[in-house]
Amino acid sequence: MALLEINRKECIGCGACVTACPFGALSLDSENIAVVSEACTACGACISECPVEALSLPQVKKAEVEDISAYRGVWVWVEQFRGEAGSISWEMAGQGRKLADQLGTTLTACVLGHNVEHIAHEAIAYGADRVFLVDDPTLAVYRTDPYARCLVELVRKYKPEIFLLGASSRGRDLAGAVATQLYTGLTADCTGLDIEPETNLLLQTRPAFGGNIMATIKCPNHRPQMATVRHRVFEMPVPDPTRQGQIVREKAVMGEEDIASKVVDFIVQEGEVNLADAKIIVSGGRGVKGPEGFEPIRELAEVLGGAVGASRAAVDAGWIPYAHQVGQTGRTVRPDLYIACGISGAIQHQAGMKTSKVIVAINKDPEAPIFQIAHYGIVGDLFKVVPALTEAFRKRLNK
Ligand code: FAD
Ligand code: SF4
Ligand code: SF4
Repeated sequence: MALLEINRKECIGCGACVTACPFGALSLDSENIAVVSEACTACGACISECPVEALSLPQVKKAEVEDISAYRGVWVWVEQFRGEAGSISWEMAGQGRKLADQLGTTLTACVLGHNVEHIAHEAIAYGADRVFLVDDPTLAVYRTDPYARCLVELVRKYKPEIFLLGASSRGRDLAGAVATQLYTGLTADCTGLDIEPETNLLLQTRPAFGGNIMATIKCPNHRPQMATVRHRVFEMPVPDPTRQGQIVREKAVMGEEDIASKVVDFIVQEGEVNLADAKIIVSGGRGVKGPEGFEPIRELAEVLGGAVGASRAAVDAGWIPYAHQVGQTGRTVRPDLYIACGISGAIQHQAGMKTSKVIVAINKDPEAPIFQIAHYGIVGDLFKVVPALTEAFRKRLNK
């Protein structure tokens, strides 16, 4: 039975809800009154569109408040592309395992795709007790509709209390679609996840108000508690191929004929920087003074076999493309070595790099905040220090 309720006495037949429904679940009947079909997912998108408040979702709210204790277990979505799981998913699995242990419950991984059973086994090695494997040609490439509907059905059937997804492009898209259809809360781009001991609620920490404060968000009244976490925020766990777990096969819920989108082709962008996986990053900020100021930064990065990063100030000035930006609104990185050149170390920049294993700061201002988090600081002109370092490494590394 559809969960949306329509007050037939109030409805004036304006049709606004019909156009608003993303699932085509609403239409006007012969008396010009709105009617809802079984396609309704209780997403709630139509409710605010009605000018006379004739729509409501009372059963959803009631059911969720009553049944909250029935939700158990921690879930993670395992993102894959062409049969290869993304490392962000295993970071999620590692953190999910810790949360599940804190709660004394199980960790479940959701693997969706086509010919992806090997990923289900990997998920167990990375800490899952159970894997829902939905292997179907309609899921071969990521599309919002079939993936979201599949996860929504799994959640409705098995009721997890926590559901974590990586904050990749696909993860962000999918998490929003799933949370909306489930009528639950979602905290995007978390930088920390923990369990509140008194309540067992998920504590979801993320920057707020432009990164000036860290907010800890709870979702007490709806389930599952959903969060996305950016790449490199959590450490990559070490897989244990001897771990045992259960693989549960589930069916895809949408046929190809029901899916509106078709993937025509994938075009891999040439020269794309992969900051997230770089072991060494040399970054430049406003102190490099112009696009040509990145030349010594690039030379040092090349000699060290690393990637080039940048502060937002350098990106906003148009000196280097956005793909290089490190920070709250750029990439989160966790390299073995991060060399910040002419970067003051604003909190929004730190948000993307402060968990780097070794931080070296080069800045002519000894009071620059970057020195507070740097393991090694060099006070000086980067245009002298960086070429000198490049030369020294070139000799040391025989390059
Ligand atoms: P500045 O703060 O101007 O620092 C330049 C530094 O270079 C100074 O410390 C100076 O002493 C030093 N310097 C100058 N000349 C030399 C020289 N010759 N040799 C050595 N040192 C020299 N910023 C990010 O980086 N990433 C983000 O993702 C990001 N997201 C943001 C999101 C929001 C919502 C907001 C409000 C801001 C965000 N910012 C971000 C901007 C951030 O607040 C800072 O403005 C920015 O990081 C400053 O960049 P910078 O350190 O390169 O420049
Ligand atoms: Fe459509 Fe969502 Fe309204 Fe249901 S609640 S009729 S799915 S817009
Ligand atoms: Fe009726 Fe409200 Fe839908 Fe208009 S938006 S057709 S008034 S239910």
